[in-house]
Amino acid sequence: MELVERARSWGERTALRTGEGAFSYADLLRASQAAAEALLQAAGGGAGGARDLEEARVVYLVPPGFTYVAIQWGIWRAGGVAVPLALSHPPAELAYVLDDAQPALALVHPDLAARLRPLCEARGIPLLALARPARAVGSPELPAIGPGRRALMIYTSGTTSRPKGAVLTHGNIEAQVRSLVLAWEWTTDDRILSVLPLHHIHGVVNVLASALFSGAQVTVHERFDPQDAWRAIASGELTLFMAVPTIYARLLSAWEEAAPEVRARMTAGARRMRLMVSGSAALPVTLFGRWREATGHELLERYGMTEVGMALSNPLRGERRPGTVGRPLPGVGVRLVDEAGRSVAEGQPGEIEVRGPNVFLEYWRRPEATRAAFRDGWFRTGDLAVVEGGYYRILGRQSVDIIKTGGFKVSALEVEEVLSEHPLVAECAVVGVPDPEWGERVAAAIVPRPEAGPDAPLALSLEALRAFARERLAPYKIPTVVRLLPELPRNAMGKVVKPDVRAALAGAEGDPRPVR
Ligand code: AMP
Repeated sequence: MELVERARSWGERTALRTGEGAFSYADLLRASQAAAEALLQAAGGGAGGARDLEEARVVYLVPPGFTYVAIQWGIWRAGGVAVPLALSHPPAELAYVLDDAQPALALVHPDLAARLRPLCEARGIPLLALARPARAVGSPELPAIGPGRRALMIYTSGTTSRPKGAVLTHGNIEAQVRSLVLAWEWTTDDRILSVLPLHHIHGVVNVLASALFSGAQVTVHERFDPQDAWRAIASGELTLFMAVPTIYARLLSAWEEAAPEVRARMTAGARRMRLMVSGSAALPVTLFGRWREATGHELLERYGMTEVGMALSNPLRGERRPGTVGRPLPGVGVRLVDEAGRSVAEGQPGEIEVRGPNVFLEYWRRPEATRAAFRDGWFRTGDLAVVEGGYYRILGRQSVDIIKTGGFKVSALEVEEVLSEHPLVAECAVVGVPDPEWGERVAAAIVPRPEAGPDAPLALSLEALRAFARERLAPYKIPTVVRLLPELPRNAMGKVVKPDVRAALAGAEGDPRPVR
């Protein structure tokens, strides 16, 4: 495993700075060895333990920090497939992943054990609580891990209603990382701030894996907080920052609200950085401009997806064109095709297809969905784009049922399923409505049941529906805009016309600040 091999050469260099202190690459190697040993021991059942997890899935619910990385590496070093669980997910979503991933083991930070224990017990999944992996005994030899092995499974919303596990091999991750290290010129001198959740490709590969592959240093914040993030930026010690547009919008608001002398320190710190990257959702051109005014930085916008890692990027050196995502990254094949799979001419819109060692292996236990996702060896992203002057511009998703909010992908169908379970909801339709801060907001049109009567507006208020959904959906999937309609707009075939739903919801009142 290249990541581990390289870590040996970084030795005592600082790998991570967290709320708990600073940790070297040597610390990481020791702790991940200990985690691997604990996993093999637990998997073996009897004396001596197992020698290799042989791609057994290991789910882990651990806040971002040293222990998170030690456990992730430990799973890899023991031969397992790392399946990070989202801290924001309520029990129903965690249960879904446990049932789908069929893990051999679960790891949890002791502080979060109560959340996972009942779910694991009900399924007979052994649960290990690890605060900080103990000292490695160093006895069992860890297995050799080839690049073709499954390494990581990230749950991602597709056009079907429930999330699918996208499986990446060690080779996929390495290809993705090498491409970014080359394009964005990562070095051992880089120091990046990690504020993103670590169950998503952006935080896991672009930030964490790329940094640790490069011998660089990661300052880990457990969660994004604009003031904390600005404090870290203002320290002047960072060289890199990567985030979703929503985070840049929130940082900008904090910058605008700051007192002039504080603002000057923020700007000075940002100016000392060498690169700030935006992606996972469209970066509004106005935000690009306002960020440049505030910090002097032209945000580098890139495009990627769980299944392919990063595919397109504006250049590190050279013109960064606002509203575009640049050109194909090194080693990544990208083409635009029409519905029949024929390449389109420059200036014509087409679907983005991606090919290369970066492209994922499969959707876990979904051979049909995996087959359908490829055409002639190319992965079909479902995103439309056009090339103008050599630069790709994203036009949006082919499917209206995928909502991109705050950088997270949300399946409208999944939210509809949950809202339909409400006893007073007769019908509902969920769409994304444009929002300057979140890219899109999750918005729901609801047709109340007759028994809701005149009380419907109260019983099905935004607040009431959000309270209902909170138990069943991750916070970022819960609608922040709701409108009651007498009926849903439908076409002649009886299908709900989503663009009309969107129009009906555009002016509706929403919660000003969705929860992430
Ligand atoms: P995910 O798998 O959660 O990373 O989501 C991938 C999806 O995010 C892509 O298929 C696009 O629809 C969207 N996306 C990622 N980067 C961009 C970008 N720079 N501009 C517009 N959409 C983006």
